[in-house]
Amino acid sequence: MSNCIFCKIATGEIPAEKIYESDGAFVIRDINPQAPVHFLAIPTRHYPAVHDIPQSEMASVMGALMDAVREAAKAAGLDANGYRLIVNSGDIAGQTVPHLHIHILGGRDLAWPPG
Ligand code: 5GP
Ligand code: ZN
Repeated sequence: MSNCIFCKIATGEIPAEKIYESDGAFVIRDINPQAPVHFLAIPTRHYPAVHDIPQSEMASVMGALMDAVREAAKAAGLDANGYRLIVNSGDIAGQTVPHLHIHILGGRDLAWPPG
């Protein structure tokens, strides 16, 4: 999508360090980290939110995203103690960038429930 910040990062129009990259997904550091480690795993293709992924693409999109999560979490040493994944999907969840992404949070104790 032409006016989407994560699409622009995906294509390289906006430079960002990609911690991990595959055909279907990539991982960057969140610009406003909420934990010592705060990454975003992002599908290369533009889907605004969870319900916008066609069923026929769901397995490949989520497979690519979860591979990206595991590789980035392991590279950051999060696999030893664990980490939290968050998807804000839609307005009520507080989604601010309408290009689906998974937050990866770790490196500190994480309270539950979230706000
Ligand atoms: P959401 O609120 O949609 O679940 O999460 C969007 C996240 O993207 C926020 O945590 C925000 O800090 C992050 N973000 C917004 N713009 C940029 C950007 O240009 N670069 C990076 N690396 N992160 C961004
Ligand atoms: Zn996009």
